[in-house]
Amino acid sequence: MIKAVRGTRDLLPPDTELWNFVEHTVREVFARYNYREIRTPIFESTELFSRSVGEETDIVSKEMFTWEDKARAASEKTQTLTLRPENTAGVVRAYIEHELGRSGLLQKLYYIGPQFRRERPQKGRYRQFFQIGAEVLGPTTAGSELPIRDAEVLDMLTALLDAVGLTGWTLYLNSVGCAKCRPAYNQALRDALENVKDQMCGDCQRRSETNPLRVLDCKVPEDQPIIEGLPKIADYLDEGCREHFAQVRAILDTLGIPYQVNERMVRGLDYYTRTTFEFTHGKLGSQSAVLGGGRYDGLSEQLDGPKAPGIGFAIGEDRLVLALQAQQQQTLAPLKAFVVPLGEGMNRHALKLAKQLRADGVAVDVSDESFRLKKSFETAEKLGATFAIIVGENEVKADAFAVKNLTSGLQTTVSRSELLGHLED
Ligand code: AMP
Repeated sequence: MIKAVRGTRDLLPPDTELWNFVEHTVREVFARYNYREIRTPIFESTELFSRSVGEETDIVSKEMFTWEDKARAASEKTQTLTLRPENTAGVVRAYIEHELGRSGLLQKLYYIGPQFRRERPQKGRYRQFFQIGAEVLGPTTAGSELPIRDAEVLDMLTALLDAVGLTGWTLYLNSVGCAKCRPAYNQALRDALENVKDQMCGDCQRRSETNPLRVLDCKVPEDQPIIEGLPKIADYLDEGCREHFAQVRAILDTLGIPYQVNERMVRGLDYYTRTTFEFTHGKLGSQSAVLGGGRYDGLSEQLDGPKAPGIGFAIGEDRLVLALQAQQQQTLAPLKAFVVPLGEGMNRHALKLAKQLRADGVAVDVSDESFRLKKSFETAEKLGATFAIIVGENEVKADAFAVKNLTSGLQTTVSRSELLGHLED
């Protein structure tokens, strides 16, 4: 038997309904904040990720699906390609390639789609997983650098989590400084690590030289007490970064959005500057991060583009769905009615009635006339329908139908014109 590849999975009904509900809600909420959809390719040049996410990150150093794509014609070059491990780099590449900044306006873009990382699979961690993300970026003249943008992004996220019905989340906030103040912090980390790195894992030993900030991403339990004792970024922020962070926090306070500052959260990707954030959910176990994001003021220039500060996030859709399931949210409209044709020639009448109800927005399924009444009722219950509507010869003649409430067991006759009202009572 051929099975789905390790770390990938099939999404089956009824779970797909929750996925669709989430995506539908995302589109609705993001539109209210004036975001538009962008779709970028699923694979890109490997260089795009190594130059943005960073060579020393877990993602680039261990987790990418990369291959050599051989030239097939004289006009083509052999290239190294990678399945996208995240989507911010692709969006910024598209922003640069299509000169989206030329309008002088902020670009507010969102995406929904699969991402790929060769991680060790477990619940909530897959090799193909789905992210819902958004980015707001643009020229500084459009205000892309200002704290209001950070706060608006966080406000949109809380609105989305409310709209899908997720409760019990925690928002962690930090500032990781900028290109100006980060070098001093990196040096402080290097100095502090000098005496302790020999007791740490191989990754930390290497990173303490190459990219000390990434030491803070380490998950090895034995290294945690050492990491706790390292210098804190908050003590190294320059005036501009400190002021920016204070303003973001002040706006969040005004909006009534609760958060906790977590000084260790540096978010695993090199392109972040200033604000970083993560939302976690208690019901998710060890993979508790539902979403993460932050500001990336130098990213466009790093990819040879114009100055285009921005901020964005990615929601782990798999984890959002898991958290909603753990909460047992009844967010989906259940099947309202099962239409039951009874007797020969009744299929077409049943389908006509179903068509009418569906046009009115009612979720309806249809039996078929070869079923006996008992089997139809049993099927209706298995499907979770609230009503069974019987379409027999007498009903068609009278244009009124026997409607059985499957919860109470009560059966009444209802005319076609009153049916919709009856089902919705
Ligand atoms: P990141 O792009 O690493 O900042 O991750 C953003 C969000 O994507 C995380 O908070 C997770 O919810 C989700 N995520 C990241 N990696 C995985 C994975 N391997 N499987 C499932 N979800 C993931």
